[in-house]
Amino acid sequence: MTIVKQVFERIIPKGRAGSPSLDTMLAKFDKELENFAALIPPAPESKPRTPFDTPGEGGADMSRFANMTPTQALSVLGIMGPLLWNMNQSSKFYDGTFKPTQYEATPQFMAELEATAYKAGAKDIKYVRVPNTAIFQEKGIPHQYAIVFTVEMDKDNMETAPSFEAFREVAKGYKNLATISNKMSRLLRQNGFAAYPGTALGGLTDYCYLAELAGLGAIGYHGLLITPDEGARLRINTIYTNITNLPIETENEHLWVRDFCAMCKKCIRKCPVDAIFDQPVPRGDGGMQCIDHDSCREYFNKNYGCAICLVECPFSHMGYEKIKARFKGNPNAPQFRILPEPIIDLAQIEVV
Ligand code: SF4
Ligand code: SF4
Repeated sequence: MTIVKQVFERIIPKGRAGSPSLDTMLAKFDKELENFAALIPPAPESKPRTPFDTPGEGGADMSRFANMTPTQALSVLGIMGPLLWNMNQSSKFYDGTFKPTQYEATPQFMAELEATAYKAGAKDIKYVRVPNTAIFQEKGIPHQYAIVFTVEMDKDNMETAPSFEAFREVAKGYKNLATISNKMSRLLRQNGFAAYPGTALGGLTDYCYLAELAGLGAIGYHGLLITPDEGARLRINTIYTNITNLPIETENEHLWVRDFCAMCKKCIRKCPVDAIFDQPVPRGDGGMQCIDHDSCREYFNKNYGCAICLVECPFSHMGYEKIKARFKGNPNAPQFRILPEPIIDLAQIEVV
């Protein structure tokens, strides 16, 4: 057993099977929601959060950590330690004590907020009014507005996936998300605004769904967000806030991406366990189901988080603009569109 495995077993709470369980860790963060008398509720048709643990096993497969070299163990610990610490810090924003004094932000403040995020490593930022349908079942959020941002993952490292280098790059992406969201949340609160960072892993809402609604990009057939700058080499996080005059965009110029997907389907062919559907299946919540998560999870867990679909996607290596310039359109493509409505109401309910 390597030191890194021992460390993970110490810092990540154990699941039913006695091994470290990300779902148990996230459930601990979710408990912070009990500090609120009222939350924005999910819609009846909202989907549950996708579990990380293998159903029935209640824990993570730690075998890959046992095979790391000492150098790999040290380098991953240097990322996972700050990631878990920062996620823990994010959860502390939910202690239920903050009382906002401001509700509308000036353009100057928004510029300062964005500059802070970009300086800390954010790649792109947009804004959204969160539909209840994007809130996971049995969760809730303190405010209905959200800042959505991305971080990029290094192309060279990701192109080695599935590999230790790609796994470390993904972990670094999550660490950056957690660090940046905490930094932005502190700035928001210092200026009187409510700010609740989403957890970098897991979370209370469907981040891809919100990112497409915000206009950051479009969800590809592999279920990942595709953006002009990063292709699918990105991670997403949110900050829930009470700012009512966020510069929310209503049009998304990237939806042609799915017309391209209907012709491409490379991720579907390359997935080693055939986990990606031939075309997305509309869900009752307005989103799309692209992947059979049960089929993906085992290979994902045993192969450094896989990411083959991410790196094989032409948007990740050829680039968005090149594809857009050559693409002549696909009038026969099935049309899926995440719509901003329905937002059922602003009624607030107690968390169950
Ligand atoms: S690999 Fe092709 S089908 Fe899959 S998400 Fe990328 S562009 Fe779409
Ligand atoms: S992560 Fe790997 S196993 Fe999962 S859907 Fe993508 S290619 Fe398939």
